Amino acid sequence: MPSAAYKVRVTKDELVFSSGHFITFDGDHCERIHGHNYRVAVEVDGPLDANDYVVDFIALRDMTRNLVNELDHRMLLPGESPRIRVAVEGPNTVARYEDRFWSFPSDECVVLPLANTTAELLAHYLGVRLLADMKTRGWADPQAIRVEVEECFGQSAEVQLIP
Ligand SMILES: [Zn+2]
Repeated sequence: MPSAAYKVRVTKDELVFSSGHFITFDGDHCERIHGHNYRVAVEVDGPLDANDYVVDFIALRDMTRNLVNELDHRMLLPGESPRIRVAVEGPNTVARYEDRFWSFPSDECVVLPLANTTAELLAHYLGVRLLADMKTRGWADPQAIRVEVEECFGQSAEVQLIP
């Protein structure tokens, strides 16, 4: 018998989030605020279980959708940026970069544990959250998980995490 390696992949129209962000790059550049209709795909590698599944597709889709829903219609802010300072001020969350600042109602923002809200780091964040959710459900660690975040058509980033 040839050896076999299995993976499952979920990517659906519902795994989309429409969010605002801005990133810093090249040290002293900071984008203008803008948004994307981000699309997420998740792949999980692993052996087959007693049901001949790698993992339950429906559960994986629902876990991913719950995370996507937390980000949808929110301003995504980097909580660990060395250049953008984010602080709660009264009912708002304020981001400051040099002499610019942006103020948002706090319930319309998500402050992420990231240095920058690039597609790469958003994918990493989602992968870490998914691995934690799998553990909470009592699932065995997968051999690997890959998360792809597409910012716009033909432009995406992917991370592979190996628990
Ligand atoms: Zn962007």
